[in-house]
Parts: sequence; structure tokens; C-alpha cells
Amino acid sequence: MSTPIYEIYAVKYATRAAQRRDHFVGGDPHDAPMAMDYFVWAVRNRERLIVVDTGFTAEMAAQRKRTLLRTPAEGLALLGIDAGQVKDVVLTHLHYDHVGTFQDFPAAQFHLQDDELDFATGRHMRHVRFRHSYEIEDVIGVVRLVFKDRVSFYQGEAQLAPGVSLHRIGGHTAGMQCVRVATARGWVVLASDTSHYYEHMETGKCFPTTFHLGEVLEGYDTLRRLADSPQHIIPGHDPLVMERYRAPAKALEGIVVRLDEPPVG
Ligand SMILES: [Zn+2]
Repeated sequence: MSTPIYEIYAVKYATRAAQRRDHFVGGDPHDAPMAMDYFVWAVRNRERLIVVDTGFTAEMAAQRKRTLLRTPAEGLALLGIDAGQVKDVVLTHLHYDHVGTFQDFPAAQFHLQDDELDFATGRHMRHVRFRHSYEIEDVIGVVRLVFKDRVSFYQGEAQLAPGVSLHRIGGHTAGMQCVRVATARGWVVLASDTSHYYEHMETGKCFPTTFHLGEVLEGYDTLRRLADSPQHIIPGHDPLVMERYRAPAKALEGIVVRLDEPPVG
């Protein structure tokens, strides 16, 4: 039996203005703007639908001064996806901008690395440097989901479905994972925050929010090993993703791009 292939969509749900110096360990000598986009992703074919990450809520956008453009559920609805019906959600990690609207997916099983929940509930959360990107109510909410048997745990590499696998990379957080998907153009890797921007993996730079710098750098090699080419790796927060890929329909321009088709820019 051949591996089934999937369509992949990036849905932009929020954005914020930022500076280059905000995004690199050691800062950056160039005083230039570098916006950050926020995405959730949908992986689907006729048999399956998998949502990757759940973004953040309007309250969190206000609290952290991010510009929410639409809730992740509203963004997915533009693709005909009803968040209330989604059965599988991968959580690449538990930072506020990746897990925040998990309540909008009441029918979902959540797929998470062991290391991530250990990290988010363990000794390192004593340190503001590590906990500032986690929200305690999100973490407690995920623990509640564990008690309802709605979290599936993985250690390292796991097959989620034929043609979809999860890979622990660590680095950014202890249990950070990426998602590898079979598509018509080959193996695409949703890097999420294993590489926030193209520039991180292309130049070996590191985003300042980091648990283990060595794992971040090793992770770039893992991404390249898993993907058919560097063009098959999709960074987690780069506005260039919206420029390099096409919208699936005119009405979705600037909101959704299709990642299983080759880049246009
Ligand atoms: Zn993030």
C-alpha cells in the first residue's frame, strides 16, 4: 500500500510588530523591523483531518499585546473545518500561542510529547525565563485533559497516521516536536518553533526563548533530514510563509496558504 498524501494549510490568526533584535540570541546589530506572524495548521485528505496547534485566545492577545486577526477556530472555519468536530490535534509544545484555544476543540484527542508536560509542570517553571511563554491556566487545562484521557503521549518519534509522524526535537522547550507530512510534492515538515523564521535554520541562529541551545542547533539538521529539501520546511512564525505560498482561493489571500504545493516565491 502506498503512503497516502495530504493537503496542508497554514492559517494566520495573529501578528505583531517586532524588531530584529527581539528574535536572535545575542541580539542583532541591525535596527530593523521583523514582524512575527502566528499560525495554526491543518493537515487533511479524504480520510483524515489533523489540526496542528490551537493558537491563543482574544484575552491572551490583549494581555500580551498581540494583534488577533481571527480566532484559530474562525480561521479553520474558512476552510470548512468545524473545530468542534476535529478529532486529532497535535500540540507542538505548550506555549500560550500554540495551546491557548484547546477548549474550542471539545471532541479532540491531543498529541503531545512526554517531555513537554513534564517540563511545563516541573522544576524549571520556577524560573521566569522558562515560564514566561506558558500560561498556568493552559497547563492546568492540559492536565485536566490528561485526567479525561484526552492526551496521547509520545517519546521521540511516533507515527500519528499513515504519512504523518511526530518528532521530538526539544531545544526551544524540552518537549518541542515537529510534524512530518507526506504530500504530492514530497515530505513536508511543519517545523513550528523548532525554527521560528527561515533565517534561524538557514544561518544557524537561535531564538532567545530557548531551553537547550544545543538541541535547537541539532534540530535544524533533523528538520533537513526529515524534509525532502530546505524548501519543504515550514518555519513557525515567519511572515515570508504567506509570501512564498499561494492562497487556496482568492477570498483567502493573506489569511491561508497551501503548503503541500510548491512555493511560488
Ligand atoms: Zn510560538
